[in-house]
Amino acid sequence: MTRAYNFSAGPATLPEAVLRQAQAEMLDWNGVGASIVELSHRGAEFMAVAARAEADLRALMAIPDDYALLFMSGGATTQQALLALNFASPGQKVDYVVTGHWGKTAIKQVRPYVDVHVAADGEPGGFRDIPARDTWSLSEDAAYVHITANETIHGVEFRDTPQVDNAPLFADFSSSIASEPLDVSKYGLIYAGAQKNLGPVGISVVIVRRELLERAGQPRADIFTYASHAARDSMLNTPPTWNWYLLGLTVKWMLEQGGVAEFARRNAAKAALVYGAIDGSGGFYRNEVAPAVRSRMNIPFFLPDETLTARFVTESKSAGLLALKGHKAVGGLRASLYNALPPEAAQALVDFMRDFQRRNG
Ligand code: PMP
Repeated sequence: MTRAYNFSAGPATLPEAVLRQAQAEMLDWNGVGASIVELSHRGAEFMAVAARAEADLRALMAIPDDYALLFMSGGATTQQALLALNFASPGQKVDYVVTGHWGKTAIKQVRPYVDVHVAADGEPGGFRDIPARDTWSLSEDAAYVHITANETIHGVEFRDTPQVDNAPLFADFSSSIASEPLDVSKYGLIYAGAQKNLGPVGISVVIVRRELLERAGQPRADIFTYASHAARDSMLNTPPTWNWYLLGLTVKWMLEQGGVAEFARRNAAKAALVYGAIDGSGGFYRNEVAPAVRSRMNIPFFLPDETLTARFVTESKSAGLLALKGHKAVGGLRASLYNALPPEAAQALVDFMRDFQRRNG
């Protein structure tokens, strides 16, 4: 068996060590005679797995004690809707800074419940840059300000946490969580689907300043209430135990590898290799994002025409480089370089790119 290098944007590559451990424990977890996925979420075995994952993620991300850490079923889109239901009153103003496709999705989820104010919008510039902080028009009375820390499709990222004083800052970290050190205390809430940097799809993490859980929000079911999930340690109903377990293994692996500082170093090196190959190609490959906000996680890039793009996708796959086709919203190619993607993968991609250009340039 050979494992290819997988550049998928998500669900994405997982550490091989994690997959091997899950495989080894599949039929019999820790000698109990059953798989972890067959055990009750209320039993001592799974409770220990869940608590370990929480403690490890708190350690990995240095999450302060006055923040709740929730493990929620489903994806980031669900959290996008829950933000309005939990933290804004009906029709209340909320500020959104839109820097790509996922910022627009976030707005779509809350429109039925709140008065959305777009405080800044990168779309007129084709989402190739992040509007400068001093151009944002923040509201006096917003319930929160929402940003997308890293735009998975457009490939732009906030390099620093923007200073926001009018309301708590909420951020979608789906595609960059735990990829570098972060000062969690600058945020009111951070959410992320796990399927890029933290593990498998089907579980999301929400990191929220506890005092915000006291907000009334709007009429909603208990199951849509973050405070209820927090009060029951994310076991208000049956949680996605398999996903939680895999997330725990992935986080433990990240700690063993040296934590977020080490991943920041590796991720910067991988991204520098790929951007270097693009910028050094004399225009054969193009990435149009302003250099100061280029994503280190997702690199969209383009060839001179569609025929070459299709050829690149086919030939790279045959060469063991998977999932380099761009998202349909922007076309072209995209390389996602999450924590679990080894540095050798970025080198293999760059070698392939140079060879492809030699043959087709
Ligand atoms: N936000 C971002 C930044 C994403 O990349 C994605 C998925 N690619 C989403 C939100 C939506 O996540 P999900 O499909 O888990 O709902």
